Amino acid sequence: MELTSDQIRRWCDLATHPEVERFFVEARLRIAEVVRGQRPICLASGACCHFDRFGHRMYVSGLEAAFVVARIDAARRARAANPLRVLDVDAARGRGDCPYLIMRSGDPSGSAFCGEHEERPLGCRIFYCDRGADGRGDEWQSALYEEMHREVIALHEAVDAPYRYLEWREALAAVAAGDGITA
Ligand code: SF4
Repeated sequence: MELTSDQIRRWCDLATHPEVERFFVEARLRIAEVVRGQRPICLASGACCHFDRFGHRMYVSGLEAAFVVARIDAARRARAANPLRVLDVDAARGRGDCPYLIMRSGDPSGSAFCGEHEERPLGCRIFYCDRGADGRGDEWQSALYEEMHREVIALHEAVDAPYRYLEWREALAAVAAGDGITA
């Protein structure tokens, strides 16, 4: 189903709504608490952010994408850096990774890290490639993800935002373009 400019505009308008901010800030804290309890190992290699190489896709709701981009753009403005641009998203799609991924310069192994770790979306906070000593790490991750997803849908309803579940770069391109649709 095609995205519409009205949908994108509504998400962007609601990105700084107090109820939206409260929800995502609290969700981040709850996820951090579960992760602390599970103690998965992350070597911060950025491997999971190389979507094509890692063989997975990340999805977000339209409202979450608008919230994350608004927070990152604000943080970037404070350090005089560019906001997210459609051309950044296009370049990431070409590479098969995320526009917020930063390559470590001078590292021959090509390792990378998240350049916006503080503001990364919920999916990035829940996913760990480490499955734990018992190999069952995907169980707590799936349960937590599904719980959050249900709550995100309820948030869309509560603030009267159209609900769409989109591939991460598709959502970013739409929000970066504003209501000029590029995806
Ligand atoms: S936002 Fe950060 S953690 Fe999430 S996919 Fe992009 S680079 Fe990786």
